[in-house]
Amino acid sequence: MAQPRGRLYILSAPSGAGKTSLVAALLQQLSQLEVSVSHTTRAPRPGEQDGVNYHFTNRDAFQKLVDQGAFFEWAEVFGNCYGTSRLTVEARLAAGVDVILEIDWQGAQQVRKQMPEAISVFILPPSQEALRQRLTARGQDSVEIIEGRMQQAISEMSHYPEYDYLVINDDFAQALTELQAIFTANRLRLDRQMQHQAALLANLVPNAS
Ligand code: GDP
Ligand code: ADP
Ligand code: 5GP
Repeated sequence: MAQPRGRLYILSAPSGAGKTSLVAALLQQLSQLEVSVSHTTRAPRPGEQDGVNYHFTNRDAFQKLVDQGAFFEWAEVFGNCYGTSRLTVEARLAAGVDVILEIDWQGAQQVRKQMPEAISVFILPPSQEALRQRLTARGQDSVEIIEGRMQQAISEMSHYPEYDYLVINDDFAQALTELQAIFTANRLRLDRQMQHQAALLANLVPNAS
């Protein structure tokens, strides 16, 4: 039997809402789940590794990839370019792995157009004050960058109604449980289970209606 395809998940949130921390924790809990490593023209933050957090690249190299049609989606966010490799995502989905794209709302719109079955989740902080505190606590951006990101965040957050699911990241453990529930529920959908449990179902219920 052909390998069942993985599902594509879009996760968006204003910078600092906790998207990266939540996804890292989610990957510890669920197997057959991976996060796509984007290309970016942004400079690495302290501790970020090329090929792990992002594929760090310069504007020229990024533009070449755009021209080659290498990106499934790409967008400019905070003055930097970010893009998702089409080939990598396609290969992982074909291998049956669920793939998370941590992308902004502009990228999400492009992905939905090409793949309407993608499942999208928006993560919001409990308040603007909490968001500012988290950006500051992360300690990886300057005061000017944090202020810029706060202003962007307010306009980004206005896009939450375009998503299938909404998670408020107030208490981290609760937000993680809720996020996990979304993934688990989608894995239990009938079409998915009929593929994943094909052998069991064929033995158990050979004459399903
Ligand atoms: P087992 O965990 O060793 O019993 O092997 P399985 O093949 O039953 O499941 C392996 C993993 O696949 C589990 O940890 C599930 O989280 C995951 N899984 C279950 N259903 C699906 C699905 O529909 N899609 C994907 N991508 N993973 C699934
Ligand atoms: P993003 O990837 O959305 O920019 P991060 O995952 O880097 O956000 O989180 C931003 C900061 O907020 C990090 O320092 C993280 O530890 C912290 N954080 C994440 N979730 C919570 C939460 N529920 N409560 C308090 N702090 C949080
Ligand atoms: P950061 O620089 O904080 O890691 O990410 C900044 C913003 O860029 C976030 O809103 C994040 O979702 C978005 N982003 C990261 N990778 C991609 C990508 O490949 N495509 C798009 N469209 N946005 C991305």
